[in-house]
Amino acid sequence: MAKKIKAIGLLSGGLDSVLACALIKEQGIEVTGLLIRTGFTDHKEVSADGKRSVEDTAKALGVKFRIENIQEEYWDTLLYPKYGYGKNVNPCLDCHLHMIRVAARVMKEEGADFVFTGEVVGQRPKSQLAHQMKIALQESGIEGKLLRPLSALCLEPTIPELEGLVDRNKLKGFQGRGRTPQLSLAKELGVEELAVAAGGNCYLIVPEYGDRVKDLLDQYGKDDFPRKDAPLLRIGRHFRISENAKLVISRDESEYHLLQPYISGRYFFEIKNVIGGIAIGSGEFSKKDMELASRLLGRYSKAKPDEEIQVHVILNENTWDINCTPLSADDLLISDMRI
Ligand code: SF4
Repeated sequence: MAKKIKAIGLLSGGLDSVLACALIKEQGIEVTGLLIRTGFTDHKEVSADGKRSVEDTAKALGVKFRIENIQEEYWDTLLYPKYGYGKNVNPCLDCHLHMIRVAARVMKEEGADFVFTGEVVGQRPKSQLAHQMKIALQESGIEGKLLRPLSALCLEPTIPELEGLVDRNKLKGFQGRGRTPQLSLAKELGVEELAVAAGGNCYLIVPEYGDRVKDLLDQYGKDDFPRKDAPLLRIGRHFRISENAKLVISRDESEYHLLQPYISGRYFFEIKNVIGGIAIGSGEFSKKDMELASRLLGRYSKAKPDEEIQVHVILNENTWDINCTPLSADDLLISDMRI
């Protein structure tokens, strides 16, 4: 009996990765959709109706599914990218290379014949420019076994094509940023709904998240970057109070609960006489910083503009009581401090 041809395809749930999986599967090849979690993506609920996960997409495509969590090792890629960042703190080329290396390992573990991705030549400014794709090939360690089914006809044939494992004539030659060919292909392959509905979200390309990462890099540097604070960067309103003092204020009750795990070892601010959120402070707060933080917390409370608020501050065994008035909503200090 002929050996089953196997392939590992990076599956983020986005349109191009779905199309690549569908194209390769169409050739009778056993596909494993590989979702790589960097710790900076949200793949749990990505469909338009919030109900379909990437695993559901893999099932609907009829391919196997595997998740690789690379959170720990990914920090080096994020903090020390060889090829630098994109517009925000997105180290896309390094990230892509990292993922290809993971896929190469999975390829060996699964006894697969090749790896493929949904990349399209010239689609994105950083990782998908043709010459950078070439670098990725050379550095991936699986040169010749990395196939891009959507752009294959614009690239040199890969080993699986040359060996006849994959029919090159059934691959595509998409290039550039246009989406029309992909949408037509999605229709042709009957994966329109999946492709439209799914997609992974990477926080690193979100400007607000990037600004918060950069702010922490300024405070702590790369080597001492507080890695455990990465999820905190998605919660609450963030303010730089002074060079060494940073404040996060909850926006609603759900964030009140989400901030709880971060209280230990940090400054905790709570208004005693008026309804409002809570705030946590990292770094070192002088008395002046504490007062400013309290006034800021007051700004987001139910206190009237001139009403005196009583803020209780705790840090480990130490406590402070601060009486002050809230900053007014249009105070320019607020936008200056906002991260
Ligand atoms: S957008 Fe995010 S996940 Fe995608 S390559 Fe860039 S850094 Fe990696």
